[in-house]
Amino acid sequence: MIISYSPQRPEHQIAAAQEASAHEVAEAAHRARRAQRSWAAAPAEQRASALSAVADAVAAASAELADLVITEVGKPSAEATGEVQRSIALLKYYAQQALDPVGSVHEPTGPGLLYTRRRPVGLAGLITPWNFPLAIPVWKLAPALAFGNAALLKPAPQAIGCAMRMTELFAAHLPDPEILQLLPGGAATGSAVVEHADAVSFTGSDTVGKAVVRSAASAGRRVQAEMGGQNPAIVLPDTDPETAARMITGAAMTFAGQKCTATRRVIAVGDPRDLQDALITAVNELPWGDPSAPATAVGPVIDARACDTMSEAVDEARHAGGRILVGGHRTEGVGHFFSPTLVDSLSPEHPLARREVFGPLLLLQHAPSLDEALTLANATPFGLAASIHTNDLTAALEAADRLEAGQIRINTPTTGAAVHTPFGGMKGSSYGEREQGKAAQHFYTSVHTVAVRGPQPPDTVQQRQSPSSKPGRSA
Ligand code: NAD
Repeated sequence: MIISYSPQRPEHQIAAAQEASAHEVAEAAHRARRAQRSWAAAPAEQRASALSAVADAVAAASAELADLVITEVGKPSAEATGEVQRSIALLKYYAQQALDPVGSVHEPTGPGLLYTRRRPVGLAGLITPWNFPLAIPVWKLAPALAFGNAALLKPAPQAIGCAMRMTELFAAHLPDPEILQLLPGGAATGSAVVEHADAVSFTGSDTVGKAVVRSAASAGRRVQAEMGGQNPAIVLPDTDPETAARMITGAAMTFAGQKCTATRRVIAVGDPRDLQDALITAVNELPWGDPSAPATAVGPVIDARACDTMSEAVDEARHAGGRILVGGHRTEGVGHFFSPTLVDSLSPEHPLARREVFGPLLLLQHAPSLDEALTLANATPFGLAASIHTNDLTAALEAADRLEAGQIRINTPTTGAAVHTPFGGMKGSSYGEREQGKAAQHFYTSVHTVAVRGPQPPDTVQQRQSPSSKPGRSA
């Protein structure tokens, strides 16, 4: 059985679903493939209007969905509401993208017509994490369906309630609900999804993502994976330290740092003292606690294991000579709460400065120059998001050229993305095509080149054949 519990009230069960076995995944794939044929053959307007209707249904259920996100994954209410709005925006965007051009016309090599046309890949296998329990399933489902595919959705067990509710809203507006199959489960269910899909879109940790990429690629499946980050924020001395500190602590700590694009390291260029003081103040001022309270910025971490991971990371930092400037402890009482933690004086070579700790942990690093800050920023196996905070346009543009990150943010937090722009990273953060924006059409379709010749008089055809293919002379 797959059961989710509230991180702030762990005794409170939120949702439960029967785990899908490998055999059930195979059967669901068969039903989805059968339904996909008429879905792909229907006019694109039909897919567009189905997705618009899902957008309206999500909008009508906004308050209920936001409450579910708050209780199931502990996301603070303002961000939970924002996630619902983002899901609606994604659905509206891809409803329109269903009507976008799907090919181009080329000069033919002789009389006739030569064109390309994108067609659905068939069955999309979608494996999603718990931290954006509505928006990530939607940013995969909406384009997969818009471009005529069927989908198998394997959500994270911790967010099964959100996935069940979102799937219901989709199913009510699809001409055949078999087009979308929800498959609750863990690793075994996910592996079965990889086995049966034509294209696999994964979002989650880098360890699991690399294994998914390996098995999908070795089976010849198309695959994309969006994974973790170790995202730096560079602060130049010309910027106001209070403003930068508030922005960076927000990017690092809101939703308890549980975003792939959360800032993990802040790199102070030059004298770090003003920035350090401003960061301490900003972290201390962050309102944290009950995620349903409107003012809360930092809620709980997802589960007891995430709390343990934070405790272990703080112990590791202390043993390596790191100074805990703020936080560093669990809180008393009910719920998986860990205080927002700021650490200084840890060597940049330390593993904590290179790997992703998925929680409210921010490291303060130092660099004497922009050049050295950029080298430090890039010194991790990841490359998802990076920010630079400065009033110097030349420095900002140099950073935009040199930062090894898919998402580069100037005077704005590492977190956040627009639905209409490509999303993804470099190095160990991503594999394959970008997601969202127009990039999604490429992933969920394959391009076909079609050469057309009109009917021709039989004698012309004969003249063009090679002598060996003439009647009576063929082998
Ligand atoms: P996770 O890797 O533990 O799980 C992700 C999904 O993979 C879940 O549905 C899980 O059940 C499934 N899974 C686990 N083992 C599998 C296997 N062997 N085969 C197939 N599927 C399997 O990640 P999580 O804890 O749910 O999410 C947090 C992680 O996601 C963080 O590392 C975060 O950075 C990352 N993330 C990345 C992005 C991005 O766009 N780059 C966005 C959000 C979260």
